[in-house]
Amino acid sequence: MENKPNKPNFTFSLNDVESEKLRQFIEIHKQHARHTAFGELVKVSFVPSTMGTHAEVQCLTCGETVGLTDLSEWDI
Ligand SMILES: [Zn+2]
Repeated sequence: MENKPNKPNFTFSLNDVESEKLRQFIEIHKQHARHTAFGELVKVSFVPSTMGTHAEVQCLTCGETVGLTDLSEWDI
């Protein structure tokens, strides 16, 4: 796909605290995971809001969803 100059690009990232939460979630859920054809274990979602971007992770086997967002970086 062509990258149009006036279209904003979005980059989503996790800081150290959020990455550690994700790592722990994967560690717990990989014990009961049914791997899909491509080996997906969890799904990480980034949800932009008026307050900031909220990150969450969902286990593709049991469906548990946990928020990853490190609120210490939010201006609230
Ligand atoms: Zn699970």
